[in-house]
Amino acid sequence: MTKKFLAVILVFMIVLSMGTVSANVHNNEKQEPNDVQVNKLTESSNELITNDDIKTDVEENIKHETVNSGNKQYTVTEAPEPIIPVEEKSDKRVIYPDKPMIAITYDDGPSVYTPEVLDILKENNSVATFFVLGSRVYDNNDTLNRMLEEGNQIGNHSYNHKNLTTISDEELYKQIKGTDDLVYIATGYTPSVMRPPYGSTNKELIQKISKPVIKWSVDTRDWENRNVEMINKNIFENVKDGDIILMHDLYESTLEASKIAIPELISRGFQIVTIDELFEYRGASLAAGEQYYNVYK
Ligand SMILES: [Zn+2]
Repeated sequence: MTKKFLAVILVFMIVLSMGTVSANVHNNEKQEPNDVQVNKLTESSNELITNDDIKTDVEENIKHETVNSGNKQYTVTEAPEPIIPVEEKSDKRVIYPDKPMIAITYDDGPSVYTPEVLDILKENNSVATFFVLGSRVYDNNDTLNRMLEEGNQIGNHSYNHKNLTTISDEELYKQIKGTDDLVYIATGYTPSVMRPPYGSTNKELIQKISKPVIKWSVDTRDWENRNVEMINKNIFENVKDGDIILMHDLYESTLEASKIAIPELISRGFQIVTIDELFEYRGASLAAGEQYYNVYK
């Protein structure tokens, strides 16, 4: 009776242990195909890992943390260690929204004079917006990257300066999208604003461009007069808070005029900012299908 009972117990235990083993095997079998699938996906997929992918992982980890950490449940904002801000550069530009500000724009470049224009801006802790031609991007890759590194803005000024009101839709698409793509390939940045050559627009064209169109309120006529005194006379007889100044980084006279005008504008109390900054700090919106000349208070 006792032996029989022991034998039954033994058989029962053997069956039980086999069950456990088989259950483990079963679990492993269940997990492995999943792992393999994940690996396959990672290997075969060419898709970039997006911010959202990372965010989901982080969120899952936070959930796990919360479950395992008993009463110590921190939210991200209540992290136990204070977050130390990155030390700010001492030469960082500070923009005062209530003080006068203007945007200088240089069209038709980049050219051999553009690096020197960038030097003047940098020396004066100022920035500008460069409406570049797509056809000049390839030869001026370094200059374009320098513009962005130093806080300047790049705008689209078409591929080769055609009057956009006179061309087909297909050509228009190439002029704008082609220039966007060339700038993107060179710098990783896509221009958000457009200035059509000659400022030539009509209502239909502005709608088709699908970016904010930026015109100007002070015309230096530097392309015409090629004269330092005349360029600066046009600036200083007209400039006021919120103006957008039109110049061309294509002429030596414009470079020479900039050497005088930029420090002089600053000494007269103007902050020299990009188009995006001018609109942002004045609380003005920029919309596709609209055109803008200035941001007056
Ligand atoms: Zn132009």
